[in-house]
Amino acid sequence: RESRQIPQRFLFYKPYMSKGIAERILLEQDLHNALANNEFYLDYQPQVNLKSGAIESVEALVRWQHPNRGFVSPEIFIPIAEECGLIIPLGKWILETACQQAKQWEEQGLPPIKVAVNLSLGQLFQQDLVEMVGEILQRSKLDAHYLQLEITESMTMNIDQMTQLLHELKALGIQIAVDDFGTGYSSLSYLKDFPIDCLKIDRTFVRNVQHNPNDEALVSMIISMAKHLRLKVVAEGIEEVEQLSFLMEGGCDYIQGYLFSRPISPQQISETFHDLHHHVDEVLTQLQYKE
Ligand code: C2E
Ligand code: MG
Ligand code: MG
Ligand code: MG
Repeated sequence: RESRQIPQRFLFYKPYMSKGIAERILLEQDLHNALANNEFYLDYQPQVNLKSGAIESVEALVRWQHPNRGFVSPEIFIPIAEECGLIIPLGKWILETACQQAKQWEEQGLPPIKVAVNLSLGQLFQQDLVEMVGEILQRSKLDAHYLQLEITESMTMNIDQMTQLLHELKALGIQIAVDDFGTGYSSLSYLKDFPIDCLKIDRTFVRNVQHNPNDEALVSMIISMAKHLRLKVVAEGIEEVEQLSFLMEGGCDYIQGYLFSRPISPQQISETFHDLHHHVDEVLTQLQYKE
């Protein structure tokens, strides 16, 4: 907080830098207690099937409510958890919580909702990952078909190792999605080897899709490639009807973004499920009138 008062010209001096590091160490210490102190929770963001207008799945997104700092973004604390190894117990907690939640929605009589859970690189190197996922599915009694794991392209371990791991995970009956697709530097060749079900187009491509011909070309190319490979496509970060319109015409299967819903609590999912559908219907109808 004090750093804001330091004049601009001092920004690259040592005191500020070391404060940055000190900050990080403090954050890391707090992170270690956060799990035991129940400071984490999950929000869920709906993914809408564009053909049916149904909310078929949700993505689980971890949140950290720090006692003094307030909300800390996962973009900040996930990389720290990753570096200090905390991602293993935290990742397990996230997976277990998400699976229990999906089961609970089912027991509450909601239509079937798949849950997508993000995996970190560190978890892929976890020796007992497959075993752990299997156990969590058993304990939660969630049908494996209702769990999707999201991996990112940047997670390229060795291609053979990764292929083997994904096959073992798939054997449990779960689905695999490639998150933030198009932002990594890995070659496309893995797409033919990996047993994946779904590509998620990163929101940086979607953002300017109606203004930037290059983004338009890339998004169209990803969708058509996914079709040829028989993969489902989810577009992330849809905020505007114009973006939706472009993706719909392009044949995108699923949409996730603020236009339909922000990430919300599990209670909000169950309590406003019908309102959410109504909202989705309205947006889709609005789109038909525009055309
Ligand atoms: P991600 O997995 O690509 O998740 C999508 C992010 O985009 C989420 O940010 C979501 O809130 C945001 N988003 C969705 N729709 C829109 C939109 O229309 N506009 C904008 N501007 N943003 C939108 P969030 O929750 O802050 O998460 C950021 C990243 O942190 C995630 O990106 C993921 O990489 C990581 N993360 C979040 N939760 C978890 C988790 O449970 N485990 C792991 N390993 N990583 C997580
Ligand atoms: Mg994700
Ligand atoms: Mg993403
Ligand atoms: Mg991301």
